[in-house]
Amino acid sequence: MENGNGNSLAINGAQWSLAGKTAAVTGGTKGIGYAIVEELCKFGATVHTCARKEADLHKCLREWEAKGFRVTGSTCDVSSPEDREKFMADASSVFGGKLDILVNNAGTGFVKPMALITPEEYKFMMSTNVDSTFHMSQLAYPLFKASGGGAVVNNSSLAGILGIDNLSIYGTTKAAVNQLTRNMACEWAKDNIRTNCVAPGSIRTPLLEPLMAIPEFVSKETYRIPLGRVGEAEEVAQLVAFLCLPASRYITGQVISIDGGKSVNGNL
Ligand code: NAP
Repeated sequence: MENGNGNSLAINGAQWSLAGKTAAVTGGTKGIGYAIVEELCKFGATVHTCARKEADLHKCLREWEAKGFRVTGSTCDVSSPEDREKFMADASSVFGGKLDILVNNAGTGFVKPMALITPEEYKFMMSTNVDSTFHMSQLAYPLFKASGGGAVVNNSSLAGILGIDNLSIYGTTKAAVNQLTRNMACEWAKDNIRTNCVAPGSIRTPLLEPLMAIPEFVSKETYRIPLGRVGEAEEVAQLVAFLCLPASRYITGQVISIDGGKSVNGNL
């Protein structure tokens, strides 16, 4: 069927579909990860996800089943190398040894003056935000090869681009994820694997709840955002889904801010 521009509608449709694709998404039971699982499913993908809390995971799996989404899950703490290996082994077994999409979403952060951060807190943040992204991607590599290619989307943060007081360790981990994205994009392009990264500003999720409860934070933050509000998890999920779709097949190695314009606002 022609669409008037000489393009086949069937071909265009395929560029905007994840039908038949398999995806591993870390940290899928809350916030941005939950929205990513749902968005990928809406585009037709089958998803394997994880979280640390088993009860939350089972509750989410029941919700997704009721909505007709195909989602399986494993309990996994992405800061643990053994758990990461088990998660990817589970995904491999569910998906027959192949994978098309990896979203390294799970991550955490806290607000604390740099001078007070303990060695244990430093190690916890590095293992949760950086080691997990590096190692999960390594573990996914043979599964992508078996699929003939793949798409990775890492979730970093605006805090990995801007200097923000009391977010030194969080910002450092996210800046590492930004650079890893570029390295992976170049090194794995020959394997038909694209790697991109989303860098959200403030997004309304359980992680941000403590800050959203401080009126001064909300008023100062929204003042700096040209679009005048914090973002929603679904808005990040839609960008992630786009970066997984064939429609974005010429985009790799990019760190894309999704922040209502905060990162480009030069006004006082
Ligand atoms: P969230 O509301 O706290 O949700 C985090 C999800 O990840 C939950 O499902 C949580 O489940 C899981 N998770 C956390 N630590 C994990 C671990 N060690 N192993 C496995 N699963 C884990 O967080 P969010 O705001 O959606 O943030 C998601 C990602 O976006 C993070 O990488 C964060 O840094 C990034 N980000 C968020 C914002 C924001 O404003 N919200 C801004 C920029 C970037 P369990 O607790 O059961 O493990």
